[in-house]
Amino acid sequence: MIIMRKGATQEEITNVVAEIKKHGLGTDVSTGEIRTVIGIIGDETRISATHLETFSGVKEVRLIETPYKLINREYSALFDGKTESRTINAGNVVIGTDRPVYMAGPCAIEDREQLMQIAAQVKAAGADILRGGVYKPRTSVHSFQGLGSDRKTAEEALTWLREAGDKYDMPVITEIRGESHVELVKEYADILQIGSRNMYDQDLLTAAAGTGKPILLKRHFGASIEEFLSFAEYIAASGNKDIILCERGIVPVGKGKSFTRYTLDLQAVPVVQKETYLPIVVDPSHAAGRRDLIMTMSMAAIASGASGLEIEVHYNAREARCDGQQMITPDELARLIEGCNQIHNTMAPFKNNDRAERCTN
Ligand code: PEP
Ligand code: MN
Repeated sequence: MIIMRKGATQEEITNVVAEIKKHGLGTDVSTGEIRTVIGIIGDETRISATHLETFSGVKEVRLIETPYKLINREYSALFDGKTESRTINAGNVVIGTDRPVYMAGPCAIEDREQLMQIAAQVKAAGADILRGGVYKPRTSVHSFQGLGSDRKTAEEALTWLREAGDKYDMPVITEIRGESHVELVKEYADILQIGSRNMYDQDLLTAAAGTGKPILLKRHFGASIEEFLSFAEYIAASGNKDIILCERGIVPVGKGKSFTRYTLDLQAVPVVQKETYLPIVVDPSHAAGRRDLIMTMSMAAIASGASGLEIEVHYNAREARCDGQQMITPDELARLIEGCNQIHNTMAPFKNNDRAERCTN
């Protein structure tokens, strides 16, 4: 990170950027309220810090030790002096403020009527953002693959999603499972979701980042927090810092019955908030894999400080073609949102200051 002096001129900044580029490296130039900071993208050992420090306008060159640098809270504190998280706009909703955001909808879009009905119901229950899968990651090729399995039905389903979002005034989120989905989905969705199975797909992360749309990146169920953040860094390095992180459960340990689909790692919430300025939300539906735990774990997620939740909802779970066992009803969602908002308000006076700890500069 090249920290420029306060009031460094544009010419001084341009000279430093040109020098970094001469070494075959990329740059991330961030100008905040305090000063400009230039992040190096690529192998920084190719350029000497002492050499850069001789440039006019440079105050200091500092090494950020973590593999994720551009999304590191330390980095934003350098140019903004701010310790708050980044807020992300998706349509008329802002994620990462003091108010939790609720994303809800079916696992998969099955037909227009199903989606329209659920959209009306989740809106009435208090949801802010509508979810609905078109391209579904499925373990078995014999399971319902989502309407995305055919180009024509994929576009139809995306049209319904947009229509439902517009009708009920909710931004919409849907998953892109491969690079070939990006161009089409970006025309319809407000937030692009990258599912846990694809967290490691660098090419998908880069292609999604290129759309300039907010990206919701789900943690892989076998990924450490460091890996999770390192892959989020690929999005930031492509010039898009509108990243919403999502904890959705990791693989349970041991030989016996684990009782849940995954293990929800709620410690990840405050840890991620300490490490980065990006907001983190929680998906209790895929973590638990059973509807009787969704209310409890949602409230626990909000208590842990999550900026929001992503929840699967269906008016008739038995009829759902995908993940029926973890769907809650619209009525349950309304109660869940009420409970979570109460927890959020109860927690507010006790919010600790941990997040600011790493940011002293
Ligand atoms: C989903 O949200 O539809 C989904 C498949 O989740 P995950 O990638 O977390 O399994
Ligand atoms: Mn699902």
